[in-house]
Amino acid sequence: KKLGIALIGLGGYAGGQLAPALQKTKNCYLAGIVTGTPSKEATWSQQYNIPQKNIYNYGNFDEIAKNKDIDIVYIVLPVSMHKEFTIRGAKAGKHVICEKPMALNAADCQLMIDACKKADRMLSIGYRLHFEPYNMEMMRLGQKQVFGKVQTIEAENGFVYGGDPNAWRLKKALSGGGALMDMGVYAIQGARYVTGEEPLYVTARQEKTKPELFKDVDETIFWKLEFPSGAVSNGKSSYNNNWGRLEAKAQNGKFWLEPAYAYGGQAGGTSKGEFNFPHIVQQAAQMDDFAQCVLNKKQTRVPGEEGMKDMKVVDAIYRSLQSGKREKIV
Ligand code: NAD
Repeated sequence: KKLGIALIGLGGYAGGQLAPALQKTKNCYLAGIVTGTPSKEATWSQQYNIPQKNIYNYGNFDEIAKNKDIDIVYIVLPVSMHKEFTIRGAKAGKHVICEKPMALNAADCQLMIDACKKADRMLSIGYRLHFEPYNMEMMRLGQKQVFGKVQTIEAENGFVYGGDPNAWRLKKALSGGGALMDMGVYAIQGARYVTGEEPLYVTARQEKTKPELFKDVDETIFWKLEFPSGAVSNGKSSYNNNWGRLEAKAQNGKFWLEPAYAYGGQAGGTSKGEFNFPHIVQQAAQMDDFAQCVLNKKQTRVPGEEGMKDMKVVDAIYRSLQSGKREKIV
């Protein structure tokens, strides 16, 4: 059986990546849409052959509870809306995939996890890189200590923001923050999945070269994470630099990716040579895996708890910017 997915929020990522990926999935398909823009109902239903009965808006969304075609809702909205739609989705009896960053803060993540548990529904975060072969190799090399204990990790992710100055990404109330929330979560994740550990402390500082554009959110942040084993990760996020590297130095060698976090084209290697893995449609692999987890009642490798762990680090980075001090990650 193929499970039916309804995308909630038909913006850049849903239209540019998820809907095309859902044409390639084996265990799930694009069954429905939820949109606040009436004109998108017609274009999407034509392009993807979606019946009128599987089209909802934010107001009548809860009626989706009665719709047997929809097994999973996939939230692709501004961050401030993730909590509400995760909770409404679970209450409607649907399994939920929620995009990153999971929520405005870790406390909201906990409420989302609790709501899905209470409704006995599975919750997953859109962490596509956990299904991407080059990143999976970085996890293996680090966690299995193939080059010995990992000592330092450099993780940086960013792009030069050239979009709409009025976009939700630049409004803290909607985004929760700037490049750290949008891009930094990948660098935090990278350090976490290379070490296989949870960081204990963080120290952060920030830089702003375009204060008019980034008046409400962070532009560039630098942080240092300290892990229980003694490993240290120097991380960076930016809306003013094109970054995309993940590099680990271990006792007996190093391994790296660049680009590390992109939708495709991953490249990298180790002290012993270049990686040569297949390039896949990450979102298709991610959604197919979740559908299988739902069908087989198996835990997803990227549950809500995984999103919350990153948000705890994000929360501590913002606290460190405020205090100017090293902060405990709690
Ligand atoms: P977007 O701005 O392109 O789309 C957002 C959608 O939400 C639009 O369709 C918009 O109409 C709708 N919306 C509803 N209420 C809104 C409001 N009050 N203000 C603004 N828009 C509103 O954004 P996007 O790039 O598609 O990002 C959506 C989510 O997906 C974010 O959480 C983002 O971090 C995530 N994302 C993930 C990846 C990934 O690689 N996993 C990539 C891009 C985006």
